[in-house]
Amino acid sequence: MVTARSHSHPRLRSMCPGPPARILPVQAAPPAAETSRRFDRQLTIPGFGVSTQRRLSQATVLVAGVGGVGEAVAAYLAAAGVGRLILIHPGDLADPAVPGLIAEADAVVDARHNDARHNFPERYLINRLCVRAGVPLVVAAMNATEAYLLVVRPGEPCLRCVFGEGDPAWEPLGFPVLGAVAGTVGALAATEALKVVGGFAEPAAGCLGHLDRWDVDLRTPRTRRDPACPDCGPGSTP
Ligand SMILES: [Zn+2]
Repeated sequence: MVTARSHSHPRLRSMCPGPPARILPVQAAPPAAETSRRFDRQLTIPGFGVSTQRRLSQATVLVAGVGGVGEAVAAYLAAAGVGRLILIHPGDLADPAVPGLIAEADAVVDARHNDARHNFPERYLINRLCVRAGVPLVVAAMNATEAYLLVVRPGEPCLRCVFGEGDPAWEPLGFPVLGAVAGTVGALAATEALKVVGGFAEPAAGCLGHLDRWDVDLRTPRTRRDPACPDCGPGSTP
């Protein structure tokens, strides 16, 4: 298990309290988008091709949180030709429709910005719903010049395996943000989601990506399953 305190600035923080979640289905790409010249440049990426573009055009990706990080995620998913986006923003995830929307997605990106007091419980909730539905999850977070990225596919270490106790030291009134870093982590998360649903490259699963734009430091410590994980362990409750 990697605990939240094992990193230099070990916080997956968020901010912006808000009203209950609004769910915004978005049709991102027209039918038969894989044949459009709009995608000529990415179609020439080795290992990509028309079959990958077709998978993207038929895919549904749910983005939880459309703030500085999530808007970059959604923009790049749409630009790449993902057929259907479901955007949930802002507030809590108590809406009873949320589990069903997650279950029908091919991948979920957790890019939430919400009240720090509720951040980890809601991230855990998305994590748990994805694990139980067998839906791949990309977790994106930032703090000042730092970016965090975690890809969770079925059977791999989940968010709660990696950050088992949340972060009790987070501040109640938010955290510093550099918009360019939000865009960076959003683009990274979109790339991982595209790899997951497009199947054209190996997602960065099994490690915790930690990028600090202050000094361009990049670390990817390996993650491990927690056999006692309440979300993905054998004792987890449905
Ligand atoms: Zn777990």
